[in-house]
Amino acid sequence: MPKDLYTDFANTGFGRTLTKNLGLPQPARLRRHRPGQPLARGPVVVLGTTEASAALAERMLGWGLDVRRHIGPKEKVAAVVACFDSVSTPAQLSEVVLELGSLLKQLMPSGRVITVFRDPTGTHDPAVRAARSAVQGLTRSTAHEMRAGGTANGIVLADSLDASAPGAAGALRFLLSGRSAFVSGQFISVDTVNGALPQDWDRPLRDQVAVVTGAARGIGASIARVLRRDGASVILVDIPAAGEQLAAVANEVSGTALQLDITTQDAGERILAHATQHYGRLDIVVHNAGITRDKLLANMDDARWNSVIAVNIESQLRMNRAFLASELFNSDAHGGSGMGPRIVSLASTSGIAGNRGQTNYAASKAGVMGMVAATSAQMASRHGTINAVAPGFIETEMTAKIPFATREVARRLNSLNQGGLPVDVAETISFLASPQAGGTSGLTLRVCGQNLVGA
Ligand code: NAD
Repeated sequence: MPKDLYTDFANTGFGRTLTKNLGLPQPARLRRHRPGQPLARGPVVVLGTTEASAALAERMLGWGLDVRRHIGPKEKVAAVVACFDSVSTPAQLSEVVLELGSLLKQLMPSGRVITVFRDPTGTHDPAVRAARSAVQGLTRSTAHEMRAGGTANGIVLADSLDASAPGAAGALRFLLSGRSAFVSGQFISVDTVNGALPQDWDRPLRDQVAVVTGAARGIGASIARVLRRDGASVILVDIPAAGEQLAAVANEVSGTALQLDITTQDAGERILAHATQHYGRLDIVVHNAGITRDKLLANMDDARWNSVIAVNIESQLRMNRAFLASELFNSDAHGGSGMGPRIVSLASTSGIAGNRGQTNYAASKAGVMGMVAATSAQMASRHGTINAVAPGFIETEMTAKIPFATREVARRLNSLNQGGLPVDVAETISFLASPQAGGTSGLTLRVCGQNLVGA
């Protein structure tokens, strides 16, 4: 993995002073999840006197957090949860917003701001929708203003949903934790009461069987490690040419390796057969394998176009048809943890904003987001979910090949002023695959440190 020497330098005493004096980017060391570490390192302040503020404060007290309604001007704060779930006009925002503003300077490094509000698309009332949409705008701008590795994100509750739903607590826990270190300026929608909070927060995927494609290296290998750490048994898929690396990662995570090109017509059936033989079931599918074949559209040839579409989206559509046609892909029916099946697909911020030289790749990744949105109804009928994760600039072999100057610019162009790590993507995937995210489906969640360019 390429080393980010600038971030190393900026975190030395001299580097900190110099970057500050010259007004250069100041990438902080992000607080990442370690099993057993406290969820928050200090008080969590809850703002607003709404239904959600009461339900979420109670939930956090149950987690042993130091929950406050008010805090002294000198005290440090780990997180602020700002609840706007009852606003019906933009004029009503000010009280909580200004209180939130007054607390920002008291946030600890890697501090959190989490807004909670109702789905703007759930109303036809112009004033109500304006107020809810305004919360999105203020959350995104707050994320741009965060310092020292802090993030700001939102939880969007469906109108009919009570804030005590497990999905609301699950999203809150993810956003408070170090698992969401590289997620900023994003929104997690919670639409249903489905899902459950795990008994053991350090092993939320206990008893689950997961398959990860493209698991021999990069983000896929990291996903396999994190799913294993979180309690799942893992099947690792990659092309035969990557067999040796695949076996090494499979050994490391005590999983099983399956050498398979996912563009093979019966790839889905082959994965199901492997899962049946080794584990008797399949609960979680992570479609991670992906390729780039960059070329300006004016110079595009059919091999480049077709291979990217075939690997990145056509294969996923075909495999999903096989999974959804199988009884095996439904842990509910097999007496599992009560969690329905999960699919998580890798999209990309290129699929949202577009990228020069990547018409094929951006088409495939936008295709993934469309596929995920359209498949959520089918997954719902099995009490399951499907979501996508769209990484921004992640430090991998793929991005190590980008020329130095371009890479250095790409790394800094987000609110956290650094590239993400494969583990950041893996943590978000593990969250979406877990019982706690059962209320969220059809969503594309970006893990991009709030890219400043594009969408
Ligand atoms: P990578 O190239 O390091 O790894 C991809 C893996 O997929 C490889 O092991 C490869 O052998 C495997 N693979 C490729 N074609 C396959 C096929 N037909 N069948 C089975 N396996 C196959 O890539 P990465 O950087 O780890 O990216 C992983 C995913 O994340 C991809 O979907 C990529 O598009 C996406 N992504 C990455 C970034 C980034 O910054 N690295 C950003 C956005 C999205």
